Amino acid sequence: MQYEGNIFKMRTEQANPVNYFLPVGEDEIKMNDFTGKEINLFFTGRINCISCGKLTKRSFSQGFCYSCLQTAPEAGESVIRPELSKAQFGIARDMEWAKKHDLINHIVYLSFTSELKVGVTRHTQIPTRWIDQGATEAIQLAKTPNRHIAGVIEVFLKRFYNDRTNWRTMLKNRGDSETDLLKEKKKIYKLLPAELKKYYFENDEITKIKYPVNQFSGKIKSTGFDKTPDIKGVLSGIKGQYLIFEDGMVLNIRKFNGYYLKIELPA
Ligand SMILES: [Zn+2]
Repeated sequence: MQYEGNIFKMRTEQANPVNYFLPVGEDEIKMNDFTGKEINLFFTGRINCISCGKLTKRSFSQGFCYSCLQTAPEAGESVIRPELSKAQFGIARDMEWAKKHDLINHIVYLSFTSELKVGVTRHTQIPTRWIDQGATEAIQLAKTPNRHIAGVIEVFLKRFYNDRTNWRTMLKNRGDSETDLLKEKKKIYKLLPAELKKYYFENDEITKIKYPVNQFSGKIKSTGFDKTPDIKGVLSGIKGQYLIFEDGMVLNIRKFNGYYLKIELPA
């Protein structure tokens, strides 16, 4: 089977294990079907900006041309740093976009990726955000009416918790957490200053996530289309937005949003 087109980060469905679908042009490939099989991904050299669609020589911030990097709402600074969102004051690159993305309920959460971490996401992105990060379990901590407040809570919690994932560690193991997330959440309640406590979210459900990985490799080396346009190997599994190959090579699909690929898969 052959496919070609611009790729985008994998769409996921929570299942046991997670189902992964790689968008390629108009098609979607169910990647779980190819674990244990040899796949070939070839980058043609063409990149289209994921916001305006124009050709771009380089991709900035996971898929934007230089112009959109500076103007597109989805490439704004509050995407990475929620506390910088000013939409609640009516200030944004695009207020219509901000109304749908910043001025809606946000969730501050605690998840286990390479270790315990805190994070922020729009309420509609649960559990997608956790799966994209390769979390094996997660719990919601706070629910806020906009992105800014969620960011303020996250910044406060960064004094006590990590907010980054060590992707090497995340990809090397099954991610069995020895931490009791609920116990940790109760601890966080006590830490929160009074003005932030009111956003504490009583939903104590713990989401566990299993990934389609046959075997974790002791050695991890990252690969990418800019240096290696022709990537070929036996797919060992998928975790987060990474394809993991049998020889320990890993490919972060998300980094290559908008890359035009030719893909060859076994029948
Ligand atoms: Zn663009």
